[in-house]
Amino acid sequence: EADRALLDADWDDLDAEPAPQALPVLAVVGRPNVGKSTLVNRILGRREAVVEDTPGVTRDRVSYPAEWAGRDFTLVDTGGWEVDVAGIESKVAEQAEVAIALADAVVFVVDAQVGATASDERVVELLRRAGKPVVLCANKVDGPAGEADASYLWALGLGEPRAVSALHGRGLGDMLDAVLDVLPEHSAFGEVRPDGPRRVALVGRPNVGKSSLLNKIAGSERVVVDEIAGTTRDPVDELVQIKGIPYWFVDTAGIRRRVHQTSGADFYASLRTQAAIEKAEVAVVLVDASVPLTEQDTRVISQVVDAGRALVLAYNKWDLMDDDRRPYLEREIERDLVQITWAPRVNVSARTGWHTDKLVRALQTSLESWDTRIPTGRLNGFLGELVAAHPHPVRGGKQPRILFATQAATRPPRFVLFATGFLEAGYRRFIERRLREEFGFEGSPLQISVRVRE
Ligand code: GDP
Ligand code: GDP
Repeated sequence: EADRALLDADWDDLDAEPAPQALPVLAVVGRPNVGKSTLVNRILGRREAVVEDTPGVTRDRVSYPAEWAGRDFTLVDTGGWEVDVAGIESKVAEQAEVAIALADAVVFVVDAQVGATASDERVVELLRRAGKPVVLCANKVDGPAGEADASYLWALGLGEPRAVSALHGRGLGDMLDAVLDVLPEHSAFGEVRPDGPRRVALVGRPNVGKSSLLNKIAGSERVVVDEIAGTTRDPVDELVQIKGIPYWFVDTAGIRRRVHQTSGADFYASLRTQAAIEKAEVAVVLVDASVPLTEQDTRVISQVVDAGRALVLAYNKWDLMDDDRRPYLEREIERDLVQITWAPRVNVSARTGWHTDKLVRALQTSLESWDTRIPTGRLNGFLGELVAAHPHPVRGGKQPRILFATQAATRPPRFVLFATGFLEAGYRRFIERRLREEFGFEGSPLQISVRVRE
């Protein structure tokens, strides 16, 4: 219980109830044993180093107030997140991902004596995707002889490797200066609105009415703005203003240019759909309400959910709907869409423009859910009661307990449950269901992961 209180307190520091003046968050990431904790202790000016030679030692704290050259920031140490060494590769990536999501800037620590490993490369991938500022720390350069080791790390493509000896403090000042250069004044973390218009993907199999819908929306509501501050224009995206709110519709070139049905076209269409989804924050999956739902429709829906994007389902061609078809449609929804009852469904007609206003409202709802953050205190209060009333079933004489939970990320909301043992899938689904009942999250997928603490 004591350590639960500790964790609670720490995560509350990070909860972005976002005081607009929140301190920027700097995360130190890297695989085990590269010297993250040594570095963190150095930065904090601590001697009583909590450093262990064994990877996987669990420590309690995750974030600390820190200061360098007169600037305050919050330092996130992922060293304590290692829960076991089994499957270390994926664990490193997973932990780095959470840390990166939490951070405004990242110090990526690599052991220069060892050089870049496959694990390091995976983290580089994540860093690239996240697009946050990164300073590459080439650690364990204890003397001038080690400088050459550091220079090999240019190959990671993250810019200049900063040669550091966390152990002796060598190069630390220069590295931290580089960090301050890229660290924003205030945390953007948890901010509900990103800069610029939200990005929407309009997806669905051929002939469901994507281009008709786009034309309808862009045609009637169009105020195509050329430049909005803080946006970069990609020629395949279109800026469309609806009810006074501008949205980027991504990869509209793919919608407007009809591709000939050749062999393999399916595959490329699916890649293109994937790319559009990745680029968007919310996807509108268009289906043809007048014909039975196909496997291709459900595949697109899964792509959106798997990519962790907000989702709106639009049943198009509603003008063709007749009373004979309706009961079938209801049955299809119950049978094929049972996993995504949380997604708003809107019946529309691209031909007449009927209900496009509802579609826009659904977009907003889904995006809001996608952005939502539940404060740690509230989350644990809710889970504490839930778990007391509905404990995990006993399996093989053991009963895993949830100790603590935090929402580690938004967009989509991602929850990390710290538990004393593996939680079975049914129980995780139960928790997800209850989270939705309590907090809503209409239109957003939820990600729930479990960390086992001994
Ligand atoms: P973490 O798992 O990434 O947090 O790594 P630790 O901070 O626990 O360090 C792992 C090991 O590397 C420890 O034995 C440290 O003493 C050692 N180490 C850390 N930084 C340096 C350094 O700059 N030079 C040398 N030679 N060893 C270091
Ligand atoms: P896309 O391949 O998804 O871009 O689909 P299109 O927009 O090209 O539409 C395919 C066909 O469906 C065209 O003949 C459209 O006129 C027709 N269509 C699209 N939306 C509607 C609608 O709401 N009602 C009706 N009746 N037909 C539609």
